[in-house]
Amino acid sequence: MSSNAGTLPARVNSPARVRFAPSPTGRLHIGGARTALYDYLLARQTEGAFVIRIEDTDRKRYVQGAEEEIYKALSWLGMEWNEGPDVGGPFAPYRQSERTDIYLEHAEQLVESGHAYYCFCTTERLATVRKEQQARKEAPRYDGLCRRLNSDEAHNRKHAGEAHVIRFKTPRQGKTTSVDEIRGEITVENATLDDYILLKSDGLPVYHLAAMVDDHLMEITHVLRTSEWLPTFPLHVLIYKAFGWEQPAWVHMSVLLNPSGKGKLSKRHGSGGAHAVYPLELKESGYVPEAVVNWLSLMGWSYDDRTEFFIMPDLIGKFSLAKLNPSPAAVNFSKLDHFNGLHIRSLKQEDLASRLVPRFRAADLEVTEDELRPITPLIQERIRTLDEAVEMSGFFFRNTVQPDPQQLIGKNMSPVESAAALSRSIDLIQGFERLAAESLELALRGLADDLDLKVGQLFGILRVAVTGQRVSPPLIETMEILGKELILQRLNRAAELLESPE
Ligand code: GLU
Repeated sequence: MSSNAGTLPARVNSPARVRFAPSPTGRLHIGGARTALYDYLLARQTEGAFVIRIEDTDRKRYVQGAEEEIYKALSWLGMEWNEGPDVGGPFAPYRQSERTDIYLEHAEQLVESGHAYYCFCTTERLATVRKEQQARKEAPRYDGLCRRLNSDEAHNRKHAGEAHVIRFKTPRQGKTTSVDEIRGEITVENATLDDYILLKSDGLPVYHLAAMVDDHLMEITHVLRTSEWLPTFPLHVLIYKAFGWEQPAWVHMSVLLNPSGKGKLSKRHGSGGAHAVYPLELKESGYVPEAVVNWLSLMGWSYDDRTEFFIMPDLIGKFSLAKLNPSPAAVNFSKLDHFNGLHIRSLKQEDLASRLVPRFRAADLEVTEDELRPITPLIQERIRTLDEAVEMSGFFFRNTVQPDPQQLIGKNMSPVESAAALSRSIDLIQGFERLAAESLELALRGLADDLDLKVGQLFGILRVAVTGQRVSPPLIETMEILGKELILQRLNRAAELLESPE
């Protein structure tokens, strides 16, 4: 295959009809979600249509529930579709298993026009042919026996009920040039191509036929798919030509690689199978959809060398096929954490509070949005995932905390000194009518001075006593929110622990 990268891409001006065509063979992963995102952006940018088509003709690989997961994941990511199996549309049905008559009719049409033929070869014969080819060190391919049958004989055998497939009659001479919008022209010698099966003996089509027929009938203007389809791209172009149809713009995007840059992104990798690769799994782990969209958008596309923070409306405005990068992209999960932090920080406080409620509830902490609202400003700058919010501020909603007595000992201090610091803090707080941040801070700083301690030493003890943890939201504000009574309870409990650690 020779490639001749050109500068074909241009901004699309007329409304694009773009389809996301997943096979329901498992959970929707981030690679599929990225394809869907680029489809969606192109459709919205051009005020065209984003179509979902379910490619479910391979019944052996069909996974129950996969289609529902696709809808859920795309909805969560904020990509609404205009046409699809669930919402219908002018080209329904959108599930290939409901369109089998259409493919059969089109395959027969190709036989009629001399671009395809019935093949009656048994699997045993094909296996023998393949073995012989291997022995001769030839590439495995169909040897063309049935291609040479005369059409009367073929029709008779078919009508007599002999099992058969329909194969594409790939031209043996000449070359085929296919044009990819980001890779330029790709030219192959037809002699290197096989007579691919279009329709199987069970009457069901393979991808090569079904996808081409549907893309044409559904008036798809841009086909965005991964580079895994490049080897059969010439066949697809030949099928379009055989039907006499106008081709869509073809875009073969890079595949996603494992974080190491080695190998196609696998479902689980790294020691301990570290990262989530399904959007709905990311949702479960406390990522916000805005961050996932931002992260996905940059896996094979860039705007310029500087801008990285995008929300959907920016992407709709800025996306362009011309900026797609044909080289494979390694998935960078720390980048996702980074984006998640950025997007969490950019949320309105009420919005963040409402997204946090279910995370706290999932951790058995009964909270309301109103209760969370004063806490969100304290943690918004400090969390990278929604679940970190629970880790960091769950203590607000627990009746008691369980500090580690060792951690209650201040830095470079003895247990006795630490206990004394706690007891003086308790006295001080008892003198307050209500804990107001400003005066509380002043008083505690004064106390640190009196005790000849650094502020950090005293605050460190108090932090562990009040929150049960070393890392927490800002101490003084935390104490203000928890209030005098609870703070005194926790400080007293900490003092007991220091005196008699169990
Ligand atoms: N069903 C195909 C797949 O999941 C779709 C490829 C395409 O977008 O044409 O790989």
